[in-house]
Amino acid sequence: MTALSLLPQQDARTRRDRLEVLTALINGPEFDAVLRGGVLNIPPTHPVYPWSCVIPDCERSRWKHYAMCSVHAEQWQEAEARGMSRAQFLRGAEPLPRAQEPEVMMCRICPERPAFNLRLVLCLRHRNRWLSHLKRNAGAGEAEYEQWVADQQPCPGYGECRADVCDELAVSPLGLCGSHERGYLRDGRPGGARLPKNYFAGFERHGRVVPIDCDDQAGFRAWCRAQLPVHRTGTVNLRGLRPLLRAEFQWGMYLHGLRSVAVWHLTWVQSLADECQRRDVASLAGLEVSAVRRHYHQRMVQEMQEALRKGYFTPSDTRDAGYIETEHFGVRFPNRSSYVDLTCISQRWLRDLLWTTSPTCCAHRRARAVPSRWTSCAARAPS
Ligand SMILES: [Zn+2]
Ligand SMILES: [Zn+2]
Ligand SMILES: [Zn+2]
Repeated sequence: MTALSLLPQQDARTRRDRLEVLTALINGPEFDAVLRGGVLNIPPTHPVYPWSCVIPDCERSRWKHYAMCSVHAEQWQEAEARGMSRAQFLRGAEPLPRAQEPEVMMCRICPERPAFNLRLVLCLRHRNRWLSHLKRNAGAGEAEYEQWVADQQPCPGYGECRADVCDELAVSPLGLCGSHERGYLRDGRPGGARLPKNYFAGFERHGRVVPIDCDDQAGFRAWCRAQLPVHRTGTVNLRGLRPLLRAEFQWGMYLHGLRSVAVWHLTWVQSLADECQRRDVASLAGLEVSAVRRHYHQRMVQEMQEALRKGYFTPSDTRDAGYIETEHFGVRFPNRSSYVDLTCISQRWLRDLLWTTSPTCCAHRRARAVPSRWTSCAARAPS
């Protein structure tokens, strides 16, 4: 059992206070601005969370746990087997141009419509127009394609995806992005939302809004609310998290960058956020680490909990909970946790005595350490 689970139940007031403190820290001038907001768009060469291939000038993104794109990672495996050093390989590898990611391709004609046909890079409407153009002009071939594209008018978009967490654009009047529309069909259309037959001829052609037929509006809305974000390279979507949990992720990611003892891949951060959203976690402070499925997620949760503990609990709180937070007393051990667990001592009086007389706490009282940044920020936050 961790000390965190011994703490009193967090009530709404505590959560609100913690959110205020974290919000003040996240809005502070030292905080990394790319970690603010609901969707974090991380630059490819971010110092803590880089995702571009490490080969100089290669424009492709990293693959799996490698620091290289899939092509360079495979070349490197072969080169390493032949006995080449990493430095030699990095110097000699040829950079590659950016690979188009099929999910983010937009129609070549409509700036607000995602591509439906990836070979032609056209939305459904323009794909159909191109097919009828080919039918009408029996001799027309792909050579004419560029001219035909130049003559086309863009169609208006369908707005943002209706899935609450999603920031992608919808692919049809149903209002879902490609990924969520496929998911909706896979789930058997909960709520029965569907488009009228021939909606283009009946509505779009005349500039009319396409109505959605729905057997159960509430069922469709509930499905939209429950969706997880679409995974995108270089993006962490925290929209589905409760406000306190989102702030804890942002603050945890920021502090991780200051320590940077282990690599956190962005896909790991996203999948941990997904797990928390699925389980409706309110705060990392109440989360049992052992209940988290993957090992790398467990280590991330532990690191974030440790960072939060220093701000959430005063020294006297930690005595009540049965542990010493050495950084409260200005003591930091290199490569060691600042958390000293005393919960193995069952008698409260003995635990308190040890807490009060531990060398760390005594040294602090003698030195009267300066209050930490956390303490001063918490003091400034409105009650
Ligand atoms: Zn590469
Ligand atoms: Zn189009
Ligand atoms: Zn979506």
